[in-house]
Amino acid sequence: MRSWFNNLFIGRQGMDELSKAMFWWGLASLVLSGLLAAFLNGILSSLFSWVGLLLIILCFVRAFSRRLDQRELENNAYLAFLCRQRRRWEGRKERFRQRKDFRFFKCPGCGTILRVPRGKGKIHINCRCGYILYRRT
Ligand SMILES: [Zn+2]
Repeated sequence: MRSWFNNLFIGRQGMDELSKAMFWWGLASLVLSGLLAAFLNGILSSLFSWVGLLLIILCFVRAFSRRLDQRELENNAYLAFLCRQRRRWEGRKERFRQRKDFRFFKCPGCGTILRVPRGKGKIHINCRCGYILYRRT
């Protein structure tokens, strides 16, 4: 019985980060739909239950897939996405910490966040991309 179970996963993807995340989000979605159904019945709760079911089914489809290269690509894209979100959140926290001494502007040209000291009046801010902003600090 045990070897049968082990053989099941040979040559297959198994649970990677993305599959695990899909499983837990799917489960959370099902629980949420159950809670929603208790308070307000209708479309919203059935939507969550379908999304939850779909996520869990997809998670197992991925786990038993034999197309390892394709699955690895998806997993890497997911990990890169997580990393980006984490970095964005860290940046936001850092700017919040420095909000008393600095002002932050987003360059309309390239999207870089520019940091300038507060209380300098109206100044020109030069971005690395050549864009010049005129802002009040
Ligand atoms: Zn720029």
